[in-house]
Amino acid sequence: MPRSRKAWAKFYRPREFIFSLGAKLCNQPNHGEMRNVVGSEKTSPLAAKQQESYNTTFHYIDSDLGGYGLYYRTMMDELELIHRGGFGFQYPVDIPSKKGKELASAFRNEVFDTSYYRNYFNTDAVDVPIEDIKEYIDKACLCQLGSSNANDRELLLGTFLHQGVEPGARLSTFRMFLDIASKTQGYRIDQGTFRQLIYFQAATNGSTYKPLSDVENTYLLWRMYQAREYYAFALNSLWYYLCWWGVEENGTIHPKRFNEIEKHIDQSLNFDRFADKFDIPCPRLKSDSKFQSLLDWLITLSDATESNFDMSCSIGSPVHEHMLYSTANTDRHDSCVMIAGMMVLLSLVFLRFGRPECWTKPEWFISRMGSEDRLSLDRFVRTLRSKFNNDSPTIGDVAKWVLNDYIIKQHQVVASTKWPDNTFRFRQEGDRLQFFELENNISFNDSRFEALSTTLNELGLCGKFDNEQHPLSINGEKLLVEGDLR
Ligand SMILES: [Zn+2]
Repeated sequence: MPRSRKAWAKFYRPREFIFSLGAKLCNQPNHGEMRNVVGSEKTSPLAAKQQESYNTTFHYIDSDLGGYGLYYRTMMDELELIHRGGFGFQYPVDIPSKKGKELASAFRNEVFDTSYYRNYFNTDAVDVPIEDIKEYIDKACLCQLGSSNANDRELLLGTFLHQGVEPGARLSTFRMFLDIASKTQGYRIDQGTFRQLIYFQAATNGSTYKPLSDVENTYLLWRMYQAREYYAFALNSLWYYLCWWGVEENGTIHPKRFNEIEKHIDQSLNFDRFADKFDIPCPRLKSDSKFQSLLDWLITLSDATESNFDMSCSIGSPVHEHMLYSTANTDRHDSCVMIAGMMVLLSLVFLRFGRPECWTKPEWFISRMGSEDRLSLDRFVRTLRSKFNNDSPTIGDVAKWVLNDYIIKQHQVVASTKWPDNTFRFRQEGDRLQFFELENNISFNDSRFEALSTTLNELGLCGKFDNEQHPLSINGEKLLVEGDLR
């Protein structure tokens, strides 16, 4: 076979197509609902037709190297299973590493005796009878990796636990996930629940999680990650609301003066209305109240002090991050939720992480991450803290600082870098903002919960997190308790 991307794609596609189709035809009792099968948009309806045979040249995916080009290549490179090829690399196309070859050979042993492998695998364009695909997938399907004594499982486990880029970090994250799995039997854990568990050690579905001391450091890194997500969500929500309000107020035709925008911000910072909405006692706080009074009110609501706020403000408190996040997701056009609520969300994060002693902890480096350094959580809490040193700002002062520095300026900086694509939602013209109507969205970044929990399940370390019962296997238990499988 010539060493070219074209030849590689010509070889790869028919084989991935059969694998994808097969995963949709798999009859193994433990197959369950397998999501994210590459190409399944096309192969799922095709499998449902139960044709007598399938031609391997079927166009199951647009991307020329299918799932390999889209997903596996990066991961396999990270795990040192391949050496990259192509422009700028040593080889004309990717080639398997020594470890990669071992793994391939272990998988080959599993499927060697199947009719598909013996009679069809070597041909690019061929009709494969459905019975042969089924016989092959019985051995080849991912669902067989975790539950049977598959030849390649040990090797694959070893690869995930010890090889590639930062295996130590991967290993400890695996153990934290297993720790969570072991402590949440009886509850379905999805990405939303996972976020609550790592932030509050409890979730609205009733599950709780207290990390084993062994995985505590890893847990704290993940918690810091989620703090950043809440913080970024608050900023994104303020941005989203400003864009929506500007268009709603005709700002696309008549640009809005800054003082009109600030007036709207001031009116929206009515915390009695906010308190009414969430059924809590009114604090009599408005835009011209001191920001410190807002912080004091939040501390009182959680029955806390400034120094134990982080521990006291829980998912059972009258106001917490998750509640503000979910309300903002359903009530996107209510200024009380989107302005007052997001200022409260920022205040909660500040109360937890805004004291200088937090900034010396090992996990704090996470708060400095993010592509736009200007917006890092680290910078935000430090700047806000410094505002108290020589001043006693009002809630309105803080809100306008956030709006100007973190929303208006930042949006224009980011949109300018994308020019000539016009992504401006608003643009400053003297003392006005000209608005543009474009589609907007707000959400968290992917936490990789799905990818990680699926991998653990497929490696046979624990059940599926989205089942109520997701017990650890013997290997899973060993990995959690002993720290390794060696
Ligand atoms: Zn299967």
